[in-house]
Amino acid sequence: MAEQVAMDFDEFFSLLRAELEKYGVPVVTRMLDELEDSAFVVLMSCLLSLRTKDEVTADASKRLLKKYNSPEKMLELSEEKIASLIYPVGFYRTKAKRILEICTDLIERFDGNVPDSMQELLSLKGVGRKTANIVLVYGHKKHGFLPIDTHCHRIPNRLGWIKTKTPEETEFALFEVLPERFWDEFNDLFVTFGQKICLPISPFCSRCPVEGFCKKIDVKKSR
Ligand code: SF4
Repeated sequence: MAEQVAMDFDEFFSLLRAELEKYGVPVVTRMLDELEDSAFVVLMSCLLSLRTKDEVTADASKRLLKKYNSPEKMLELSEEKIASLIYPVGFYRTKAKRILEICTDLIERFDGNVPDSMQELLSLKGVGRKTANIVLVYGHKKHGFLPIDTHCHRIPNRLGWIKTKTPEETEFALFEVLPERFWDEFNDLFVTFGQKICLPISPFCSRCPVEGFCKKIDVKKSR
């Protein structure tokens, strides 16, 4: 559910940008700089990232996607070979199977291309809204989408901008409260913010650049 938010978003984002500049971009975005940032690479690394630490995802993505960067090339590999290349990402055997299924689907239904519509992306097995949004924003460079991960869900609720229970509810609530000019940078900024300052348990409120804007909803312990 979206609440009425009366605040200076320009000031908020300018303070946040200035502080987070020193931390650099999140590891997954940085990793994409080293790989071809095609929609296929983004889609595959997103699938690898589920229940897996960022650094582990980044290393596995590099091992797999530097060479096998298209559905056709990926299908040269056996399921076992993919599993061994992506190990130790979480559920690496299931993910290897899913990767081959998706690559086959991409070739059969989309001429080997990754579709650029939400509906078509969601028709791929194992692709949910978060992955679809990330592919649209970082793979296809589309505007008007908000990929919501755990940080992007938690922090706007803490700030008191929205009151939602799931990342999907958060996505739609933010469409209502967050001015569109901030959508493109929202994911990158809030992921870094959530990793470095507004941590899930005991956030660093004492060094938070936007503490003055925060209602600290459900923050029981902070540093
Ligand atoms: S004041 Fe604390 S809870 Fe609020 S956004 Fe900053 S770090 Fe997060």
